[in-house]
Amino acid sequence: MAGFVTRFAPSPTGHLHLGHAASAFHVWDTARAAGGKVLLRIEDIDQTRCRPEYEASILADLEWLGLDWTGPVRRQSEHFDDYALVLENLKARGLIYRCFKTRREIAAALPAGADPDEAPYVGKPVPPAAESERLARGHAFAWRLSLCAARDALGARYTAMAFTEETSNGARMAPANPCAFGDVVLARKDTPASYHLACCHDDALQGVTHVIRGEDIREMTSVHVMLQALMDWPTPIYRFHPLLLGPDGKKLSKRTGDKGLRAYKEEGMTPGDIRAMTAAA
Ligand code: GLU
Repeated sequence: MAGFVTRFAPSPTGHLHLGHAASAFHVWDTARAAGGKVLLRIEDIDQTRCRPEYEASILADLEWLGLDWTGPVRRQSEHFDDYALVLENLKARGLIYRCFKTRREIAAALPAGADPDEAPYVGKPVPPAAESERLARGHAFAWRLSLCAARDALGARYTAMAFTEETSNGARMAPANPCAFGDVVLARKDTPASYHLACCHDDALQGVTHVIRGEDIREMTSVHVMLQALMDWPTPIYRFHPLLLGPDGKKLSKRTGDKGLRAYKEEGMTPGDIRAMTAAA
């Protein structure tokens, strides 16, 4: 297909594992079948967890697997200014607000046991005087995208939000339901961009036509579709691949026996062996 552009977007928080390899094979196989290209994006926004040595190891492992990409690698940590501009735009339109709630305060407002980092939180901006006071005192805050403001800004487009999902049986329109995620965090006081913001910005900037990602990010895609609508970015076509599961039926992890591709390589395994091991997904 002419103009098919997809991407592989790992976060360099560790070495590539079998689960990553399975995902990479899905991305490259789909692009090859479509005669398209794959871009490589390093999602290293979280500078506390990402390390250059992991990035180097990811690049080396992809080369070992025979997966090559088009053009230069885009490293998100080199583009914080781009993300700050998006934030400014959303701020000027009243779509984001500073949330000063601590994790403990958020947890208290949620049902018992809910994870404050995962559970949907819906809040509202603090009044300007209180906000100035908190800023003057150096309080930490998160920039949250207001679902309520987004709904007002998008009007009828909000209820019509949907995306094309391609499956092996054809394409379907999947409705987007960002409500389930509440007011998502787009940045923090000391972190200029979250995954949602940087990912959607870069997909638009890089002309990504197809996003191929794990099933575990299917629901989250609704948030991305809303952000794309608010920023007038095109919505790519999405494909979701099954996750590689461990013996317990859960996503394969270090605990369930997954290990870095390097360890398999050192044991004498070939890229063909890795492909065979990931074929279940
Ligand atoms: N950095 C994300 C990950 O590794 C990218 C996923 C995506 O946006 O498709 O899960």
